[in-house]
Amino acid sequence: MNYQHHWADGEKIDLPIGKTVCAGLNYALHIQEMNSQASLEEPVLFIKPATALRPLGDTIAIPSGRGAVHHELEIAVLIGQTLCNASESEAAQAVSGLGIALDLTLRDLQSELKKAGRPWEKSKAFDGSCPLSRFVPIRQCPPLNRLNIQLLINGECKQQGNSGDMLFPIPRLLTEISRYFTLLPGDVVLTGTPDGVGPLASGDVLELSLDTLLKEKTSVA
Ligand code: ZN
Repeated sequence: MNYQHHWADGEKIDLPIGKTVCAGLNYALHIQEMNSQASLEEPVLFIKPATALRPLGDTIAIPSGRGAVHHELEIAVLIGQTLCNASESEAAQAVSGLGIALDLTLRDLQSELKKAGRPWEKSKAFDGSCPLSRFVPIRQCPPLNRLNIQLLINGECKQQGNSGDMLFPIPRLLTEISRYFTLLPGDVVLTGTPDGVGPLASGDVLELSLDTLLKEKTSVA
């Protein structure tokens, strides 16, 4: 495993690597494209283990023989302080930095598992399923409800989103997570994908951005 948290300027972040807690179905248009139903009382949550993390700059290796791998572009939140049953203001205070991530999803496998009524962990938490960018220190970021993300594939815009459109805004989302899973320094939260998800193909070139703060480029092997 070669992943380590880094700041956008390349400096290593002195925080351990832990779990990544992910929100599903946090943007209305993505819920529509998945033919799913919004859950407005509590977010849909799942976890990727530390072994899912890869530096976003590394070439993406698609698992072979397991069907389509979809890209899900997401804002990544780096946690700097422990959060357990936290309030929204405690949650906002605990954000140490922001980045971008891909929540890679074995979509065919996920659909099969959903249909069979089984947990879809294998489709989301497999090795390498979470390419993760460097982080911008929170003091350099716009307000948490005004963040833009964008994904271009081979020069064409495939996904864009604004955190103002989240059903569970970032502080509320961290609060909800902390009721079930204590967030520790070094943990990461993925905040859900906007619409436009789709399959990756060998040779694709991906350009990802978080406002004007962060630009990353990667490709599919
Ligand atoms: Zn996702």
